[in-house]
Amino acid sequence: MISETLKKPLACWRGKERYNGTTVECLTIIFESGGCSWARCRMCSYRFEKFPDRSCEGLARHLHAQLSWVRSQFSLDEVAMIKVFTSGSFFDPAEVPPAFLAEAAAAFRGKIVITETRPEYINRETLERFVAEIDNGTHATPLYCAIGLETSSDPIREKCINKGFSFADFTAAAHTAHAAGAGVKAYLLFKPLFLTEAEAVADMRSSFADLTGRVEMVSMNPCTVQKRTELELYWRQGAYRPPYLWSVLSLLKDAPMEVTCDPLGGGQKRGPHNCGTCDYEIVRGIRDYSLTADRDLIGALLDTECACKAEWEYVLAREQPYCMPLTR
Ligand code: SF4
Ligand SMILES: [Zn+2]
Repeated sequence: MISETLKKPLACWRGKERYNGTTVECLTIIFESGGCSWARCRMCSYRFEKFPDRSCEGLARHLHAQLSWVRSQFSLDEVAMIKVFTSGSFFDPAEVPPAFLAEAAAAFRGKIVITETRPEYINRETLERFVAEIDNGTHATPLYCAIGLETSSDPIREKCINKGFSFADFTAAAHTAHAAGAGVKAYLLFKPLFLTEAEAVADMRSSFADLTGRVEMVSMNPCTVQKRTELELYWRQGAYRPPYLWSVLSLLKDAPMEVTCDPLGGGQKRGPHNCGTCDYEIVRGIRDYSLTADRDLIGALLDTECACKAEWEYVLAREQPYCMPLTR
């Protein structure tokens, strides 16, 4: 018997996710793929994660070995949802060869699959085929395309993030995904470069409003300072501060839809943070909220007192684009 090559993906873990008003078991997989074809966003270090052999055969073999590793380590029967990331776009054929899409679809049949992609790779035929292959009748919407829209503002997406697509591109892709029988999850980036705390909060509020009725899921990522990024350069010069956790709470409390949020690096200087004293409880509460959608919990956390709350209120009221950040 020929032994199969197994390769551990960049990351793979079991967890819980909120879905349709309940909590489901989820397996998250981050495959090493050919890497993001865009690779230009100012805050992103994921773009450095790529397999050097970008030939179709080489990539398909490498992805196959990672899927085999996942199947050897986890029982897919035990999870209802699979989240698939590639440090880029799962539906980019230069990154993930179409042959591997078919293999992954067969492995994930009967699951709710959420997979990330830029809008330009949302192609009706590809999605219809993928949906048909994973759909065994268990779930009304077996596939969700997660798109890093980041903000509904075109100037902010272009100038502060350098994302390379417009809100119109996003809405057209969402329309195509829906027509192919898939749902859409939008990722928003809270506080990209060059915005004051108040501007960033206002940007998220208008993004929530603009997404209402257009997508099935919204997830807000408070910005973290990743290594080897343009954002890190500014941060090292003292020209950027990650958002306050107080701002995250206030956004979640008033959002017009259910918004999930996993504050990566929460409480650390590179991640969303307050003063260091109140951070732990708030980060834990935000994670709990993402599973329960319990707004009373968010309201209660927002009502807690800490000396840094007055500082946050001052920053919101006084920080100006030409003299920021006021705090670290
Ligand atoms: S944020 Fe997404 S689209 Fe932008 S460079 Fe990173 S992986 Fe590519
Ligand atoms: Zn505090």
